[in-house]
Amino acid sequence: MLIRNAELDFGERVDLRIEDAHIAAIDHVLRATAGEIVIDAAACALLPGLNDHHLHLAALAAAQVSVQCGPPQVHSAEELGAALRKAAAHSEAGWIRGVGYHESVAGEIDRDWLDRIVDARPLRIQHRSGRLWILNTAALAEIGAFDARASPLQRSADRISGRLYDADAWLRSRLRSQRPNLQHLSRQLASYGVVGVTDTSHDNDLEALRYFADAQASGELLQDVFAMGNASLDQIGNVGTVLRGPHKFHLHEHELPPFEPLCAMIRASHGVGRAVAFHCVSRTELVFALAALREAGAQAGDRIEHSGVTPPEALQQMAELGVTVVTQPSFIAERGDAYLQEVDADDVAWLYRLQSFDAAGVALAGSTDAPYASADPWAAMQAAVTRRTPSGQLLGVAEALRPERAFALFSGAAQTPAAPRRIAVGAVADLCLLDRPWRQARDDLAAVRVRLTLRRGQTIFSVAIPS
Ligand SMILES: [Zn+2]
Repeated sequence: MLIRNAELDFGERVDLRIEDAHIAAIDHVLRATAGEIVIDAAACALLPGLNDHHLHLAALAAAQVSVQCGPPQVHSAEELGAALRKAAAHSEAGWIRGVGYHESVAGEIDRDWLDRIVDARPLRIQHRSGRLWILNTAALAEIGAFDARASPLQRSADRISGRLYDADAWLRSRLRSQRPNLQHLSRQLASYGVVGVTDTSHDNDLEALRYFADAQASGELLQDVFAMGNASLDQIGNVGTVLRGPHKFHLHEHELPPFEPLCAMIRASHGVGRAVAFHCVSRTELVFALAALREAGAQAGDRIEHSGVTPPEALQQMAELGVTVVTQPSFIAERGDAYLQEVDADDVAWLYRLQSFDAAGVALAGSTDAPYASADPWAAMQAAVTRRTPSGQLLGVAEALRPERAFALFSGAAQTPAAPRRIAVGAVADLCLLDRPWRQARDDLAAVRVRLTLRRGQTIFSVAIPS
């Protein structure tokens, strides 16, 4: 394949030849060989294909066929009731699944609240945090909750409330459900220029990695996958084409794990050459994770996911430990107004920092955390540039990045996410061609559309391109 007249490195225009999954030549003028596919880039920007360094594939695929139960689509109890009733009326029999719930909609709702909306169909809705499911009575009956001996279901006055915390694996086992098909989702990601993803689900195990590998083998899933997961993966390497990633610890400040056993698990993963990653959205979670890494020792590839609140003293420690932060700029654009209301005033300046990591010498990469924010990495990049909340307020504008730096958050390889890849002869042909030159793209990255996405030289997305 020959790509003609492409804008490279945010400026120079070149022709570029792809052979056998690699970039074979870059020059000012390359002549097409007989039978070669020629694409006219029309002076639009050609960039490294994107990696989304933190998302959840199965949850994202499931969310796409779910009712949105929180902002920005739903803001009140009335709107939520209407959305769920509509879903019940417009779908076949069986489960109704909601996602994105937040207390600002209708408070700490339970099974009785849901029963008043939908009582004849099993209904479950997930909290925006991903940690809580709320089930109606029909759903509880469907999963056998009333017979289950040792269930993680919360009870109040010995009655099951329908609220279920941190129990995805248990719920999945009770549902006996198939994991969702990834076909549609994968093509959507390809349309954004995404060639690889890091699935950061902390309960990923051998079965989950097989699910990804099978989806790749069948052509359902077009992206490379780097998969984090639980301790069981210490003893399991890569699975098919899926690369085994770090041991993920899902810290929660109200129930932090015992410190010494945590350090032992870090050492065990490091001992088999596996990095570790910590979910840290609060200041407490970050302080705890950094203490554990200091005690157990940090290794190349160790990561802090989110780093939602990063006080100045933590920046220094993170630089010393050599950890990589994988952040989500979209949370400011999607949840910034709620943060301004809910987050401790002392912490607001330290929310989802960007520029300060660069200044402190902390390795930084970007991601969407879809489905917990939009899966569109271009929206995330623009959020890193503008730092605007949904209502348009600026939040931590000193943390804003230049557009080129915002793009680089998504251009590292999965295993070295903070090191931007370059388009060069000999490199793997993971590329995306934009619909405009960079000088236009940088004015509003959220408006960018991708015309062509190549993974290892193979087209995984294209819009009609004149040749
Ligand atoms: Zn996540």
